[in-house]
Amino acid sequence: MKNKVEVIGTYLDKLFPNPRCELIYHKDYELLIAVMLSAQTTDKRVNSVTPVLFSTYPTLEDLMGAKVKDVQEIIKPIGTYHRKAQYVIDIARRLVEECDGRIPNDRALLETFPGVGRKTTNVVLSNIYDVPAIAVDTHVHRVSKRLGLAMGKDDVLEIEKKLMRKFPKSEWSRRHHQLVLFGRYYCKAVRPECKTCALLEICKEKKKKV
Ligand code: SF4
Repeated sequence: MKNKVEVIGTYLDKLFPNPRCELIYHKDYELLIAVMLSAQTTDKRVNSVTPVLFSTYPTLEDLMGAKVKDVQEIIKPIGTYHRKAQYVIDIARRLVEECDGRIPNDRALLETFPGVGRKTTNVVLSNIYDVPAIAVDTHVHRVSKRLGLAMGKDDVLEIEKKLMRKFPKSEWSRRHHQLVLFGRYYCKAVRPECKTCALLEICKEKKKKV
């Protein structure tokens, strides 16, 4: 008989057999900037501004030379754009000046970039270098607690550690994407799709939601 984690994994594989990051990007550095921009907003909103941003400034050198006001104007729809516009320019400058224009496969260094924390680093390293990682965003945070993979009091780092202990390392990156997608489309913050959810019996939220 399957244990709870295996049941969850099987269901996620059924719903999302080929999970992928939904942020649109064509170059590695575009992913780093897009993930940084996605803090406190949705991937959809980020995807609505990044094509304009990256076509207006098609290289890192163009981005590092951009005027902050011009970048603000482009990324305005995502909110918190004042700070993030400066981060875009500073990230581009640091990549050019310190990393030869490439994303470093170096967690400690990446986490010193402006606006880049552990979650962003996990997403970037996992997508670009296949580094096994589970980034805990708002969806992973919510779903993990509802499914009892983490406790209500756990912070994002504790949730990440628990998920890494529960799922085999070879599954980490896939489970990250699946938990994000499950939270985004099924186990939504408001009005989750509990009636059709195969995890209803093991879910801590079911009594409140059904
Ligand atoms: Fe989410 Fe509802 Fe499924 Fe629980 S039963 S995991 S709250 S969708």
